Amino acid sequence: MSQYDKEALEKFRLSGKILRESREEMRNFVREDMPIIQVCEKAESLIREKGGKPAFPCNVSINEVAAHYTSPPNDKRKIPEKAVVKVDMGVHVDGYVTDTAFTACFNPEYSSMQSAAEHALTAAIESIHGDMATSQIGLIIERTIKNRGFKPISNLTGHSVGRYLIHAGTSIPNVMQLSFGKVKAGEVYAIEPFVTLPDAVGRVDNSPEVTIFRLVKAKAVKNPYTKQLLKYIEDNFRTLPFAERWLKGAVPEDRHRDAFKELLRCKAVMGYPVFVEVSRKPVTQAEHTLLIKEDGCEVLT
Ligand code: MN
Ligand code: MN
Repeated sequence: MSQYDKEALEKFRLSGKILRESREEMRNFVREDMPIIQVCEKAESLIREKGGKPAFPCNVSINEVAAHYTSPPNDKRKIPEKAVVKVDMGVHVDGYVTDTAFTACFNPEYSSMQSAAEHALTAAIESIHGDMATSQIGLIIERTIKNRGFKPISNLTGHSVGRYLIHAGTSIPNVMQLSFGKVKAGEVYAIEPFVTLPDAVGRVDNSPEVTIFRLVKAKAVKNPYTKQLLKYIEDNFRTLPFAERWLKGAVPEDRHRDAFKELLRCKAVMGYPVFVEVSRKPVTQAEHTLLIKEDGCEVLT
């Protein structure tokens, strides 16, 4: 039934265990006024210490920023006072990806919005099973959030994961929507409700800022430093997302800027824009990765 053999499933489980332990340590680590880069680097080094590799840069998305912010090189930003901080982390073991997130809420005003995301995730986990319609999962998430007086972000979704793939093709909506998709037993999915205030628009938009990148296609480039940087990306991250700060030492420091710019210009590398809630309202998130069974699921993270 499962598309993954026993060995692959064990790697998914190990990936999830490393991620779960790292996440729990991060809950106690994140503080107001802490440099964001310190949070990113701590999460990524915990993952490596435990024998995994980061499947993507640790995302630290604050207040109205819903997702996709990681520290650029030499980031000077700090976690503001009373911030709502989404920490989103991923691990891979031999390519088998797990993905999790929690919200550190330093503003008591939003603590029920933080728990709304957790409750929606729990409700989805408790009802999910093989052959369940993705629209039904979206409905359960939406209802749970609305019953608590909040609004789901309608254009952010969960997703199937695969080997060296964060988004393996199937989306799991956070709202009721017409679709004929179903989750399949034996496959692995990340479920991630995002929640905002009832008077918010409830959608995200791209901001002009880009801090996370991915290899699209290895193009023929002439400049030897550009070529060297491209090879470094291929060898180290394949098609998984990476942060610019992960490229340190790949080429001489004074060559990095031009080489990286050229890879973006020739579209060998693409960027993921930072997502911001359209009405600039704060956003919370919770996420787990699940192995779907005929009659339920196994939470990997
Ligand atoms: Mn995630
Ligand atoms: Mn995810």
